[in-house]
Amino acid sequence: MASSSYSNSPCAACKFLRRKCMPDCIFAPYFPPEEPQKFANVHKIFGASNVSKLLNEVQPYQREDAVNSLAYEAEARIKDPVYGCVGAISVLQRQVLRLQKELDATNAELIRYSCNEMPSTHHGMRRVSDDGGGGDGGGSSLGHSHGFHCPTTSWNNDPCGNYGYPRGDI
Ligand SMILES: [Zn+2]
Repeated sequence: MASSSYSNSPCAACKFLRRKCMPDCIFAPYFPPEEPQKFANVHKIFGASNVSKLLNEVQPYQREDAVNSLAYEAEARIKDPVYGCVGAISVLQRQVLRLQKELDATNAELIRYSCNEMPSTHHGMRRVSDDGGGGDGGGSSLGHSHGFHCPTTSWNNDPCGNYGYPRGDI
């Protein structure tokens, strides 16, 4: 017998609050009796009357999302009373920044590799700067003031010298 659809048992909220669960109970659709901890957390952090007020203020189709976000925030706040879910957000933001830096460094390395693989005919590929009036730095996309010139002898002194060379140990 599927007891989860047994409508006579009060929802988790009414059971927790020791009150009669009416057919129009605003908590019942979102706090089933099988998940008592969900309401306990939300009640502890936000208070039942605030949750009820909030659910009445949002559209019925948004209430499930609202309850889920309240439950997430409440659980995070119980686990981390100081930062709550802000702690998780800032960890993820730091991770995004770190990965962005890593991506930038990798892209810069890719540009260096592709420069090193260029045939040494760079004297033939002079920059077209006839229309000097609009000299708005066409080479700025490479981040070098020298345009396409990539000296092939300087890459040993590269600050990111991770080309597999053990530095000076051997
Ligand atoms: Zn109820």
